[in-house]
This record gives sequence, structure tokens and C-alpha cells, in this order.
Amino acid sequence: MSVDNERRILLKAEGISKDYVESSVVTHVLKGVDLDIYTDEMVAVIGSSGSGKSTLLHILGTLDKPTRGNVYFNGENLFKMSGRARDYFRNHHLGFVYQFHHLLSDFTSYENVAFPLMISGEYTKAQIDERVKYLLDRVGLGHRMNHRSSELSGGERQRVAIARAIANKPMLILADEPTGNLDFRSAGEVFDLLTELRAENHCSMLVVTHDRELAKRFERTCEMSDGLIKVK
Ligand code: ADP
Ligand code: MG
Repeated sequence: MSVDNERRILLKAEGISKDYVESSVVTHVLKGVDLDIYTDEMVAVIGSSGSGKSTLLHILGTLDKPTRGNVYFNGENLFKMSGRARDYFRNHHLGFVYQFHHLLSDFTSYENVAFPLMISGEYTKAQIDERVKYLLDRVGLGHRMNHRSSELSGGERQRVAIARAIANKPMLILADEPTGNLDFRSAGEVFDLLTELRAENHCSMLVVTHDRELAKRFERTCEMSDGLIKVK
């Protein structure tokens, strides 16, 4: 067995603070969050609405910058690298799933899943075709391949979004309330799918949610309150 099979820290957030300034009023949303995410694990951050979960996820995914603090991925400081290196990191090592699917509504399921693979520039057309078909079958949507996302149900859209997030074989999936907009049954199906695909791909996954029932189903949960994370 190689060293790679040992659990190690994949992403390390250290002292993350975020202040928003609006009409000279400063809001301290994050006040020094520390969080370690290990390889091949699934973690939930639970917190009430407005506690800063999305803000934290955007910072971990380099879509936003912290006011203070650092984020390391495989030991590399994400906010010290060049913008280009950060774009590469985001496109190749991260998958995002949002509460509202963020699919391109005029494009088909196939096209939505194919886009990140085309952008990465690392696959041939035949490889993309094989992977997209495999993934859409895997999420139970082989028969919806050529449907536009505007023609799909909420649960189906979220399944396409999951296939898209995992298409590039990311090392980390960041999911922001991925079941928050679904009915009970679809939410259960989407959660099961995320769990299964994460395990099959041996990637790590961080889910932020306000749903305490959902959070009970995670291997590890952390609580976010008053701008800090309490690690259990
Ligand atoms: P959550 O995802 O836990 O519901 P958010 O991270 O979306 O919380 O928001 C946390 C707090 O930060 C909220 O009070 C929100 O109003 C504030 N906030 C979020 N984004 C901005 C922004 N761009 N400018 C000002 N305040 C913001
Ligand atoms: Mg949020």
C-alpha cells in the first residue's frame, strides 16, 4: 500500500476571519475559523441561517478571500499562489454543489456535465463522451441525457449538478445546502448519491447545512456559531 492511502490533512483552514463593511458598519462574520478536512472523509458544518456557512465555503473554494487567515490545500497556501494557479486548483481539484443547482438552463444534462471536462482541456472528445454517459447513468439520469435542465425536476437537476461536480475527479467536493431546496424524499436520494459517489471516488466532501437531521448522517460534524467552529 502506498503512503497515499493513509489519512492525511487535505485542506487546512487556519484562523479564517471575514469582515463585511457596509456604510462604514463592520460585521465580523467569521472570527478565526480553524478546520481540517482529511483525505477520503465526509464532514458536515452545521449552523443556523446567517451564521457564515456560505461565506466560509466560498473562502475554502477560493471564490472569496478571507480578511485574515490562511487556507492550505495539500500544504500549499491557496491565497499565496498566483491567480492562474488558483484557477487551476479550482478547476481540477474542486467540485461545487449548491442549494440551487446553478446549471445552465438552456443546455442539456449531457452538456452541463461535459463543460468542466471540456474546460480542463485534458480529455479527448471520446473520453468526455464516455465519462458523461457513465456519470449520468450513475446518477440515474441516462434517460434524461438530452433534456435541458429547465425540463428537469428539482431532484433531477441536483443529480445532474452532482454528476457535474464529480466529473473532473476532484479531490474535494464543497456542497452548500445541497438538499435544502428539495422535498424530503428527493433530499434523501440526493444525500445518498453524494455519499455513495464520494466513497466510490475516495474524495473528501464538506457539506454545510442548517439541517440537524441531515447532519446526523455524517461521519463527522462541526458546529458553527458566533463566527467560530467548534470541532467535535
Ligand atoms: P449562511 O450561509 O450560514 O446562512 P452567510 O455566509 O450567507 O450565512 O452570511 C453570513 C452573514 O454575512 C449574514 O449576516 C449575511 O448577511 C452577511 N453577508 C454575507 N455576504 C455578504 C456580503 N457580500 N456583504 C455583506 N454582508 C454579507
Ligand atoms: Mg448559506
